[in-house]
Amino acid sequence: MDSAPPKISAPPSPGWVAGIILAVTALGVAGTIFFFNPATQKFYPGCTFHKLTGLNCPGCGMTRAAYALLHRQFTTALRDNALFVFALAALAIRGAWFAVKRFRGRPNRDFFPAKLLWPLLVGALVFTVLRNLPAFAFLSP
Ligand SMILES: [Zn+2]
Repeated sequence: MDSAPPKISAPPSPGWVAGIILAVTALGVAGTIFFFNPATQKFYPGCTFHKLTGLNCPGCGMTRAAYALLHRQFTTALRDNALFVFALAALAIRGAWFAVKRFRGRPNRDFFPAKLLWPLLVGALVFTVLRNLPAFAFLSP
């Protein structure tokens, strides 16, 4: 009786499962924003910070900017939320660089290094202050 033990395939790693869930969620959100204009649809949640203070937070105009980007209206997207547009571009560049390094067999461990957290938070804070000043009204949605 010479039988080989049954082959057991390894389950997908948690990183792949999380990536698939993230991709499906991103596609669902992008599809919703693509087909339902945030400027005319009422089901999108409004900004609580803006409702309470009348000021623009760093995320104000982000959904409208995403709608504009999905419809290739880049200047409208920049007008709605420039921070979102640049952050999305930086994320895409970082993702491509990360994928290339992984493909070449030299993967990085951290997609988002902790040393970038404070500069990004300060950048978002500066953007928030500027877009609420009259001289920088062009940064407001
Ligand atoms: Zn807001």
